[in-house]
Amino acid sequence: MRHFDHRDGELHAEDVPLSRIAAEVGTPVYVYSSATLERHYRVFADSFGGLDTLVAYSVKANSNIAVLQTLARLGAGADVVSGGELARALIAGIPGERIVFSGVGKTRDEMSAALEADIHVFNVESLPELRVLDDVAQSMGRRAPVAFRVNPDVSAGGHEKISTGKKENKFGIAWDRAESAYAEAACLPGIEVVGVDVHIGSQIDDLAPFEAAIRKVRGLIERLRTQGHDIRLFDIGGGLGIHYGDDNRMPPPPSDYGQLVRRLTADLGVQMVFEPGRMIAGNSGVLLTEVLYVKGGGDREFLIVDAAMNDLLRPALYDAWHAVEPVRLPEPDQASATYDIVGPICESGDTFAKDRMMPAVRAGDLVVFHSAGAYGAAQSSQYNTRPLVPEVMVRGGQYRLIRKRPSVEEMLERERLVDWSN
Ligand SMILES: *Cc1c(COP(=O)(O)O)cnc(C)c1O
Repeated sequence: MRHFDHRDGELHAEDVPLSRIAAEVGTPVYVYSSATLERHYRVFADSFGGLDTLVAYSVKANSNIAVLQTLARLGAGADVVSGGELARALIAGIPGERIVFSGVGKTRDEMSAALEADIHVFNVESLPELRVLDDVAQSMGRRAPVAFRVNPDVSAGGHEKISTGKKENKFGIAWDRAESAYAEAACLPGIEVVGVDVHIGSQIDDLAPFEAAIRKVRGLIERLRTQGHDIRLFDIGGGLGIHYGDDNRMPPPPSDYGQLVRRLTADLGVQMVFEPGRMIAGNSGVLLTEVLYVKGGGDREFLIVDAAMNDLLRPALYDAWHAVEPVRLPEPDQASATYDIVGPICESGDTFAKDRMMPAVRAGDLVVFHSAGAYGAAQSSQYNTRPLVPEVMVRGGQYRLIRKRPSVEEMLERERLVDWSN
């Protein structure tokens, strides 16, 4: 069941015509389908049979508190990477016991906020970080539950900027240092060792790297246990890819992933923690934009839309491909055209697509970028003093504004003119 579909010649989000949202909220705007979010979460969470699991949605993929709240109601936990994301998860109703804290550079303040919230586990990435966490926990009279993020030296992920599990990446403890890190952790009174964590990359469209990482970590868990560590948690991170529609490579269905995890870990006696982000949010959202100008004349035709790289950074940052579609279905005799689709920002990198064949459109027409629910609004900025792009969530025939578009006054609110006269 698709929740972004044409009806009466026009693209809808669930039962709401996108033209209505454009008219009432303005463009550009992100539109999310709550039914799609919920379905993706359920499909993923239900794919592990009887395993003891925690699905900790990766907040950085789409951190809007209404998105988190929607998932929290289904029982989701959260994987956070900053104190700000921790606050979001708590506000959205995700209890501390279902929150895991990842990231290479946690500050003391972030650590104490997370200890205060009684989070499930800290994914610790280095010995210096471990020692600071021990100190913070002791000063609060607590013990911090810890899993080391280990680097399994497995190659995965569709783009160099999102591959994280190779030994040259900045992430995790080097594989051959893992056991000595656990030995040190066991001696620290503010630390309670509980598990092992990996996260090997993002947009992974093949099960082989997951299998390789699970097999390596399994071996490590068995060795750690013989060394006296009570390992009861295995966090396998996120990274399962989604279909963006650009080629024939289809990511494996979550059921195959679930089967693999069950086959390789059912007898291990651990809680399995998952940190899916893109897989939950990616295809739950579109970026809705209006064509400002069609500029021809040279050897290319440019479609200049009112969304820009500050609203959706993925094409500029990762060379990402997004399907583009007009909101109105083309007439049967409508011509097609080949466009470079660009935004108004003064950078050549502000290009969403090159040589894209699509139905010919005119100024004032609405188009969408599909699969924009993950790493879209979460990466948006006010570059060029463009207002932060708003977000809308649809449920059936209703929609709600879940992030408003700031006025110019609101954008400038935190800035000050300088006065050197006194
Ligand atoms: C980004 C990230 C995730 C989520 O990755 P997806 O590809 O969106 O599933 C999970 N865990 C960690 C540690 C991350 O950095």
